Amino acid sequence: MKEYLTEAVVLNFEKSQEANRRVSFYTKELGLLNAQVISGRKITSKLSLHLNPLNLVLLRLVEKKRMIVADAVVLNAFSNIRGSALKIKKALGLTRLIRTQVLTKQPDLKIWYHLINSLKTGEIDYKIFLKILGYDPKLSRCQNCSIGQPAYFCLIDQTFICEKCHFKFPENELLYIKSAF
Ligand SMILES: [Zn+2]
Repeated sequence: MKEYLTEAVVLNFEKSQEANRRVSFYTKELGLLNAQVISGRKITSKLSLHLNPLNLVLLRLVEKKRMIVADAVVLNAFSNIRGSALKIKKALGLTRLIRTQVLTKQPDLKIWYHLINSLKTGEIDYKIFLKILGYDPKLSRCQNCSIGQPAYFCLIDQTFICEKCHFKFPENELLYIKSAF
C-alpha cells in the first residue's frame, strides 16, 4: 500500500448513484489521476463537500489495487470564479480539456501552474493549454476547409475546426477556443 499527499484541483466528481464514486484530479505530484471515494464510511459526506469541481484541495490518497481518496481539505475554492456562470463554464471546459487530452500519472508543472493561475485570475485561455499540450492553435487550420485560425478544437481526434464547418461535428466533442477573458 502506497500513500500520497499532494495538492490537487478537482476536475470532476461523478454524480453516480453507485457505491463508489469516481473523482478526477489534476495533482501537482502525479499529474492527472482518477480515484475513488468509497462510500459507507462516515467521512464520505464530509469529503463530498471538499470535492467540489474546481476546488484546490490538499489530497491524501491511498493506493492499493486502485487509488482511494483518504482525505481532502479545501485550500482554495476560487470564489472569484464561482460568482460568474460564464467563468464557471469556461473553467469546467478547461477541466474537460485536461481530462480528455492529458495522460494519467504524468506530472507536468507547466500545466499545474497554468491551471492554478487560470483559476486564481479567472482568465482562462484554452489556447495556452493547447499549446502546452502540443497543439498550437496559431499553427493550425480547419481540418475540413483548411482555413486559418479555427475557432474550435475537437476533443476526440485533436483537430481544429472553423466557425463555418463546426455544425458538421457533434457539439459535445468541440471546445470553443477563440475567446479569452
Ligand atoms: Zn472549416
